[in-house]
Amino acid sequence: MTSRLLVRLDDASPFMNRDKWETMEAILDKYNIKPIVAIIPNNKDKEVSFEDYQETFWNMARSWEKKGWNIALHGYDHCFITNKKGIVPRNNYSEFAGVSYDKQVEKIRDGYKLLRDRGLEPTVWVAPAHSFDKNTLKALKQNTSIEIVSDGLAIFPYLSYGFKWIPQQVCHVPNRSYGVWTICLHPNNMSDKDFKIFDKDISKKLETIIDINNIKFNRFKTVVDHLFFIFYILKRVKRQIINSLVKGRR
Ligand SMILES: [Zn+2]
Repeated sequence: MTSRLLVRLDDASPFMNRDKWETMEAILDKYNIKPIVAIIPNNKDKEVSFEDYQETFWNMARSWEKKGWNIALHGYDHCFITNKKGIVPRNNYSEFAGVSYDKQVEKIRDGYKLLRDRGLEPTVWVAPAHSFDKNTLKALKQNTSIEIVSDGLAIFPYLSYGFKWIPQQVCHVPNRSYGVWTICLHPNNMSDKDFKIFDKDISKKLETIIDINNIKFNRFKTVVDHLFFIFYILKRVKRQIINSLVKGRR
């Protein structure tokens, strides 16, 4: 049994660090890797704004789609307005979780339209900070043709809440013997060293790389997925305890 790897790039927008994204694109092109690229339709978040607005970003995004990259709707403005975790309990801040259904519909409808007006066809949902709730999924279902969610903690893709889920578990190239692993990268924040490491690591795994068109969604979560979820949460709690002990000693 072998594992399969999928690449996801987060926080593309007209305010992104263009040089870094071009560096990432060159690496992916070299190996013919087609990632999911999460685009913020109306980026208002200073934390993910690195340059002045670039209108030419939209040409670049259309060229990504043309060569087979999968466009994901990455929220609306990427601003966190609640302290709710939502369905995937990874962060307690959100643009969506805990927000009223009507407001979520507005954000999703407007974001989806913004991308489509630019000639893009988003096929995947990527929530900023992994946080969203059942109302987000309902709003997506009723206002878009998106069927795939890139998120969740599991070993294999699964069906849930009427959507096809591709779990997102790691932020580096993993060494795993089985499962489907989404590597989430933030090119805006990567250093030259990070790009070199990614290039080297991914070059050793080329036969295991897939894109979303290779994925079969024919199962629900199993006990193995639930165990992975528990393992992930326990590991995180352990890390938080160690961090607080280290801080306490300072
Ligand atoms: Zn983001």
